[in-house]
Amino acid sequence: PLVLGIESSCDETGVGIVRGRTLLANAVASSMDEHARFGGVVPEVAARAHVEAIAPTLRAALDEANVTLDELDAIAVTAGPGLAGALMVGIGAAKGLALATGKPLYGVNHLVGHVAAELLRDDAPELELPTIALLVSGGHTSLLHVRDLVNDVELLGETIDDAAGEAFDKVARLIGLGYPGGPQIDRIAVDGDPNAIAFPRGLMRARDLERHRFDFSFSGLKTSVARWVEQRQDAGEDVPVADVAASFREAVADVLTTKAVDACLSREVSRLVLGGGVAANARVRELAAERCAKHGIELRIPPLRLCTDNGAMIAMAGSLLMSAGRTPSPLDFGADSTLPMTAAQATLPGLQ
Ligand code: ATP
Ligand code: MG
Ligand code: FE
Repeated sequence: PLVLGIESSCDETGVGIVRGRTLLANAVASSMDEHARFGGVVPEVAARAHVEAIAPTLRAALDEANVTLDELDAIAVTAGPGLAGALMVGIGAAKGLALATGKPLYGVNHLVGHVAAELLRDDAPELELPTIALLVSGGHTSLLHVRDLVNDVELLGETIDDAAGEAFDKVARLIGLGYPGGPQIDRIAVDGDPNAIAFPRGLMRARDLERHRFDFSFSGLKTSVARWVEQRQDAGEDVPVADVAASFREAVADVLTTKAVDACLSREVSRLVLGGGVAANARVRELAAERCAKHGIELRIPPLRLCTDNGAMIAMAGSLLMSAGRTPSPLDFGADSTLPMTAAQATLPGLQ
């Protein structure tokens, strides 16, 4: 089917168009720069930016794919999880389109979209299932066991406090680097020693593993970096920012890849998909490749434009729902900022 997908859960306004598993358009506008001075995404600012960007981005995607609204088979939109005000902008636009064109509308789960992005690659053989998926961005850190993208996704674990990308952003701010912090830390860490400072690995001790084997925690790590930096400053010493960046990045990459590989081994799944903005991290990629190779696990990482939030992955997820014979979402579904991983589609009223 020919499906248009709209994404507005965070700071990217994305509209993508796919035909089957072929990517026809992927237009993305980001309000990232507007959040820079706050050091993180401000929900109200993001929502306002979506209102401004949604129509031009929609136009750009239709032009890029060279299709008209009439030709579409369905419209898909992120129903959650995400920032409620931001989600509402995309959902409102999608409902307007659905009402005007009479096309079926699918409210889809953002995280399912992130995994579905891997299906849109034209540079790799088709993704086989089951797979383990590790989704890491500014808003989420989730480890999933995917047997079927529409009907059988199991949440193995997630962060119990900060998301990994959020930790990158906060630590970058702490050591005087700009926003977003991930790319800045990646850049400066090259000149540092990853073993210079032994920062803590969250939820990795034996007694944590009993209850939180596949969960993550990054707020202790962030606090530990803050304390370490403060002590240096109080003593009037220079802060070796490259060493701090490299050691922090190592701690995050170590935990993420250890738990992802552990999930593969424990579920006897020999495939791992990485997604989300943090999948751009050079050390995360390197360590994941190393550890996957060691255990015979196939590692799959979509290109960056499909890793970060985009409309094409939502279109792909909508296409899967449609092909699976799912009933379209009713036009009165709402934004669900905590839509659970087990729901590939926005919950139908009456079934709640
Ligand atoms: P959502 O959580 O809804 O997906 P988001 O806007 O936070 O929304 P993305 O746009 O996918 O998610 O990713 C942005 C995050 O990824 C930021 O926190 C940023 O610091 C982080 N990031 C980007 N590049 C890198 C990198 N090279 N290393 C580490 N983190 C990175
Ligand atoms: Mg973003
Ligand atoms: Fe996302």
